[in-house]
Amino acid sequence: MNAPAPLIDQFNRRISYLRLSVTDRCDLRCAYCMPEAQTFLPRKDVLSLEELHQLALGFIARGVTKLRLTGGEPLVRRDMIELVRALGRKLGDGLDELTLTTNGTQLARFADDLRGAGVRRINVSLDTLDREQFTRLTRRDSLPQVLEGIAAAQAAGLSVKLNTVALKGINHAEIPDLIAWAHGKGIELTLIEVMPLGEVEEDRFDQYLPLSTVRAELEQRYTLTASLHRSGGPARYVDVAETGGRLGFITPLTNNFCEGCNRVRVTATGQLYACLGGTEQVDLRAALRSQDPDAALAAGLDQAMRIKPERHHFAIDRSGAEPALARHMSTTGG
Ligand code: SAM
Ligand code: SF4
Repeated sequence: MNAPAPLIDQFNRRISYLRLSVTDRCDLRCAYCMPEAQTFLPRKDVLSLEELHQLALGFIARGVTKLRLTGGEPLVRRDMIELVRALGRKLGDGLDELTLTTNGTQLARFADDLRGAGVRRINVSLDTLDREQFTRLTRRDSLPQVLEGIAAAQAAGLSVKLNTVALKGINHAEIPDLIAWAHGKGIELTLIEVMPLGEVEEDRFDQYLPLSTVRAELEQRYTLTASLHRSGGPARYVDVAETGGRLGFITPLTNNFCEGCNRVRVTATGQLYACLGGTEQVDLRAALRSQDPDAALAAGLDQAMRIKPERHHFAIDRSGAEPALARHMSTTGG
């Protein structure tokens, strides 16, 4: 039998990276991500552990070498570690990297298990080191757990990267301190522009802080040198002379990053989104629950390659109160 064809879209981009959301649930309520009264999906709509596993294996068979588990908060899913262990067995057998993006609240409990299952690097999202600000922003008083989680992850031998969404009037002034704090712990930090995904209570325009502004301000304080380092994603990096650390910028709005896109996303209900900023979608749950799941999944992945758009089209402006996309980042899997 011939080896299954790799995933190549119509713009000749090879898809080697899957971001798989394992739940839409979360123990925090970040103001830019979801409303306080978020309605979560009924459990029957969410893929089972077996379905998530089968889905991931289908992608790995088609040349996906990097898998990131995300959510919602992936570590609030009860059988999460079981899934990580099952997928960890594919490391060195098709899979090069198994990683996750987490808010860190459950890391103290799970860091050793993650490491034991083959995870080597994780991304932790942290937007402020100020406890009151954290509580306001996430609507939960969980900063101490997050900090404990980061320490536990490092102690377990996991390499930690921080993701920080730059938010006007919220963490803007704190960004240099966050960088110094992270770099002081040997942690790389990447700044992200807020994206117009899903309805939240706040006006996105009020939250939006262009990273071009942040970078110009940082240059007053730090010596930034453009770095050739690439992580295979949309981030562009600088080295910070004063801290000896690396700083990333993800600028979906001021700088389109779609040309080298190598990824697709699958929601916890098995909906493949060909683009974070688009509506092109394939129902892989229907494929998994069909008579011939392997064939249906393969056909679904082929379909995804045909519909993946060249670029996203979202932008933030004052022209309308509607978000550019109705679904939240916690749905698509950030
Ligand atoms: N709960 C996990 C966490 O926070 O890391 C994983 C899922 S979360 C949706 C993934 C990332 O998306 C986080 O770094 C979060 O800050 C980011 N995010 C959520 N909504 C966003 C938005 N509207 N614009 C930009 N980033 C967003
Ligand atoms: Fe939860 Fe992550 Fe969204 Fe915050 S960004 S509400 S931690 S899913």
